[in-house]
Amino acid sequence: MRIPLSAPDITDQEISAVTEVLRSPRLSLGPKTKEFEQAIADYVGARHAVAVNSGTSALHLCIRAIRIGEGDEVIVPSFAFIAVANVIRYERATPVFVDIDPATFNLDPSQIEAAITPRTKAIIVVHTFGCPADLAAILEIARRNSLFLIEDACEAIGAEYDGRRVGVLGDLGVFAFYPNKQITTGEGGVVVTQNARLAALIKSLRNHGRNDSGDCFEHVELGYNYRISEINCALGFEQMRRLDAILARREEIAEEYSRRLRGVPALKLPSLTLLRRKISWFVYVVTLSSEFSEAGRDWIVEEMKNRGIAVGRYFAPIHLQPVYRTTPHRAMNLTVTEHVSARVLALPFYNLIQSDQIEEVCQSLTGMIRERDDLLPRPRDEARLAPSRFTTPIP
Ligand SMILES: *Cc1c(COP(=O)(O)O)cnc(C)c1O
Repeated sequence: MRIPLSAPDITDQEISAVTEVLRSPRLSLGPKTKEFEQAIADYVGARHAVAVNSGTSALHLCIRAIRIGEGDEVIVPSFAFIAVANVIRYERATPVFVDIDPATFNLDPSQIEAAITPRTKAIIVVHTFGCPADLAAILEIARRNSLFLIEDACEAIGAEYDGRRVGVLGDLGVFAFYPNKQITTGEGGVVVTQNARLAALIKSLRNHGRNDSGDCFEHVELGYNYRISEINCALGFEQMRRLDAILARREEIAEEYSRRLRGVPALKLPSLTLLRRKISWFVYVVTLSSEFSEAGRDWIVEEMKNRGIAVGRYFAPIHLQPVYRTTPHRAMNLTVTEHVSARVLALPFYNLIQSDQIEEVCQSLTGMIRERDDLLPRPRDEARLAPSRFTTPIP
């Protein structure tokens, strides 16, 4: 792709920090991991941070730490990354999918209570695309029903709700550092919490269930190897030093997209500002208006690809994934999830994207939308479309 969906941004100083580790005697469980954890904890305002080898591992350890198991239910959005539901299934518990708020793509608080049963143990709220969920409402529901609240802040490092950084408002918070995230460690993740007991348990679980007695052959939990290397953490620590500058740059890119796409009637743009919230820009996702079918959206994705521009179908609903046909779960009413996921377009978004590239993306996209007669399903396509996905064109 000439203009990719995401691209890494690694400085020479970061490369030096990594090579320095490679010349040292400690490649895992050393000082860089502690430094990185401390930097994350200080930044988000957490008492404890435990770094692991991926965001998915971090989420899984949250589920293990609060002892979720067979027969338990956990409320999650379906408009999310699939790991959110998979980690619940790893422990044979049941994901219960709840619909989203069309304005923010986050869990809709008004639909959570109807999904709660005596088996419900937790809610995983996802701060989708870096926009904080309605935490006041969701926390209140969690507390009133004695549920754990896990914040999946994998896409939202640095985002704020009521002046507090997300990740520390629930019982446990998770960040991820895959190369498309705001900052990267190559692969990596971290759990943050104010709870010392949960932090100690997660530390033990990431390292084969060892306790901290110093005897590395005493295992007190059924643990994993979810450790992250010193090499990854050295990169993460350096990237953390640039985080504020990176977030400012990403906000600029979002503003530029909005400036260029404002006034295109067929597009709903993400809000740049929201009451009580500060967005940490992960991706810039536009939504086509309802007269577009899923086939029309997919045509745009293909056409953009033909021009060397990567555009993502972010997210495809989890409950419609082939693997979830046979994976136990419960689905509430997911009308908004299905409507939105058929119409979203994630545009190329990375620190180093240039103005002329943003301009090209916007021109290609608006050009295609202008020819929207061509975008709407043609007679031969119509038969393939599920009735719920086909809406009458607006003349
Ligand atoms: C990236 C991401 C994760 C974790 O991803 P890994 O690839 O395992 O690091 C989890 N949830 C969401 C919402 C994400 O975007």
